[in-house]
Amino acid sequence: MRRILCTATVVVLSGWMTAAEAAERLVRTQDEFRRAVDQAAPGDEIVLANGEWRDFEILLRGHGVAKAPITLRAEQKGRVFITGRSNLRLAGENLVVSGLVFRDGWTPSGEVIAFRGKAGEVARASRVTEVVIDRFNNPNRLESDHWIALYGEHNRFDHSQIVGKANLGATLVVIREPEYGLENHHRIDHNWFGPRPNLGSNGGETIRIGTSGQSLSPSYTLVEDNWFERTDGEIEIISVKSGSNVIRGNVFVESRGALTLRHGNGNLVENNVFFGRGKPHTGGVRVINRDQTVRNNYMEGLAGGSNASALAVMNGVPNSPINRYHQVVGAVIEHNTIVDAASVEFGAGADAERSLPPAGSRFVENLMVSDNRVDPLRARAAVDGIVFDGNVQSEVDAPALVVGFRRAKIRMERAANGLLYPVDRKLGAVGVRRDLQPVAREATGVDWYPKTQALAALGSGRVIPVGPEEGALAAAIRAAGPGDTLALAPGRYVVEEVLAVSRPLTVQGPAPAAGAAPGEGLAVEIAFTRPTLFQIEEGGALHLKNLAVSGRRAPDATGDAVVRTTPRGLLASCDLIIEGVRVADLDVNGAFDVVSISKGSLAERVVLKNSVVENVTGSVIKADAETDELGFYNVERLEILDTAFRGVAGEIADVYRGGTDESTFGPDVLVRGNRIEGSGRGPRNTSQAAIDLHGVQKAVIEQNEFRDSGVIEVLHTVGAPSTRIVGNRFERTPEPKVADASKKVEAKLLVSGNTVVGEAAR
Ligand code: CA
Repeated sequence: MRRILCTATVVVLSGWMTAAEAAERLVRTQDEFRRAVDQAAPGDEIVLANGEWRDFEILLRGHGVAKAPITLRAEQKGRVFITGRSNLRLAGENLVVSGLVFRDGWTPSGEVIAFRGKAGEVARASRVTEVVIDRFNNPNRLESDHWIALYGEHNRFDHSQIVGKANLGATLVVIREPEYGLENHHRIDHNWFGPRPNLGSNGGETIRIGTSGQSLSPSYTLVEDNWFERTDGEIEIISVKSGSNVIRGNVFVESRGALTLRHGNGNLVENNVFFGRGKPHTGGVRVINRDQTVRNNYMEGLAGGSNASALAVMNGVPNSPINRYHQVVGAVIEHNTIVDAASVEFGAGADAERSLPPAGSRFVENLMVSDNRVDPLRARAAVDGIVFDGNVQSEVDAPALVVGFRRAKIRMERAANGLLYPVDRKLGAVGVRRDLQPVAREATGVDWYPKTQALAALGSGRVIPVGPEEGALAAAIRAAGPGDTLALAPGRYVVEEVLAVSRPLTVQGPAPAAGAAPGEGLAVEIAFTRPTLFQIEEGGALHLKNLAVSGRRAPDATGDAVVRTTPRGLLASCDLIIEGVRVADLDVNGAFDVVSISKGSLAERVVLKNSVVENVTGSVIKADAETDELGFYNVERLEILDTAFRGVAGEIADVYRGGTDESTFGPDVLVRGNRIEGSGRGPRNTSQAAIDLHGVQKAVIEQNEFRDSGVIEVLHTVGAPSTRIVGNRFERTPEPKVADASKKVEAKLLVSGNTVVGEAAR
């Protein structure tokens, strides 16, 4: 007893003394910084001088006390830039870091900010606040790192601004292993998680708490009052893989994917607000495992389905391995408001493996509002393990569930908090509470660094006239700003260098006369003498319009293409639109493509329309470079519309998505209204297909005419893909071949209304 008292006295005394002696040290070099850290005592502040600190691996190791932490801060917030090969580590306890900006570089280790020093040496009761990490990307998109890694316990990451992570790896992770601490009690609050582009594979989460191996133990992490804006990395925005966490009061705006209770039990998800604004694949909460509570959440305009539904209550796997799907048991889902949702699913993911429906669960006093009379509710499996009670829904045709739902005309009005509530006060007991107050955008992140980093849209800039003189087009592209349009005067252009496109650019010729057939009456013809005409670099996007492009002056080089993405691969996904063009004579060698997307690159949207493509030895859209079977792919959405193809030796569309994980939404392919003649059957075309789709999630091939051409080949490999092949004419062309790679694939297939004429030539 006496001994304990004695120790307490010493602690109080030392805290008081050090506070009195606290020093502030302004450091101007990395050596000065290291000396200051070695000497730091509780209460000291180490101040990094304003300016750029390049190639700086910051290790703040020390022992502060609760009332007198050791602080590392910027001389002025937002004036200290950490660049090059740099990172920050904290080891010890009661440490605070604030005011730094990480940009123009990337971490040489696996983490930008790590709450640990050496392996096993963690930080406790420490805080990183008001920092910015802005596109601090490893230039290799497939090289993984984390931007914030919380180890230890009782650490806080708050009021920070995180934007533009484009390479592989979750943005913020809570690392939970016995040597780093399992009961974390971390707090992640008031951060602004800005746009994260679609990664096109697993590993694009914005927050992940734990991994499956330790998921049955509690983490006690709090994720509160953060803002998630267009965090589109993958299907899990937040991936909870541990127990007893609280996800509360966050706002999700136009973010693809869902807050996912992937592993672990007893988590609480409440008072969150989701605004999908109709953007595809925006979801809400996905429920898996035991004793999860989802209450008082507001969801509006969520357009996602399946695992990215507004609510997805999943089916489980009997005797599930730790990394698969435990049965939903004891879920409580109550007082949520769901407005204009595309989908609310019970038994989501039900298949031969995931055969256990939810049990012992409640779905109570939720409000579901829509005015299109389409029921978003779907039962994918038996729902008798869920008690439905006191829910109110707008009137719908053919309701999926009857017991526990009252249906009425519901008129809504927007309240001062920005959320919709029923005009009829008698409905006040269902849905979210009136006092739900979403955190304001200004209350998240920092107020000394801008929050928007949006790319300029194609066509949003100036219009710059360009003539056919030698070198003029190349010079104009180098000088163009983001969003500019290069308006080409009539003439023949010969381009003698690869045109590097590192901004969104439109290159267009004069519009042909009204009534001209596609590919006719084009006043601009471009030939090129290098292996490619346009190469998309980081930050680039391209719109080609009203041009005739000829390959007849191109060299006989491997990888010839009219447009390609940089062979180094792209971090951020890019758009490519080609319309009203005529592409011909790509035949100097046996493999000359129109568009070729390199390994390590993802095109968000590729559109080819109202065009003519003829005499091509390679493929038209080549998107098959990701062959590692890791779930990466080259194109998210491909549209080929109203175009005539003649004499294409390779495929019109060659799309490959390997692997079997379910973290992504695409690829999504639409081929409509095209004429395809004598195509898909060149001697080097190993598939002998006109259209070859491997692992595509959604394919629509309709109203096309195929003549003397190769087969349509579709292989379903993962998830719940859907394929529609409707209203096509196949003349001397084989009928489509569609197959499932395994029994686990739950494909939806519609092949109908097609006309087959003549025998396919062999
Ligand atoms: Ca994931």
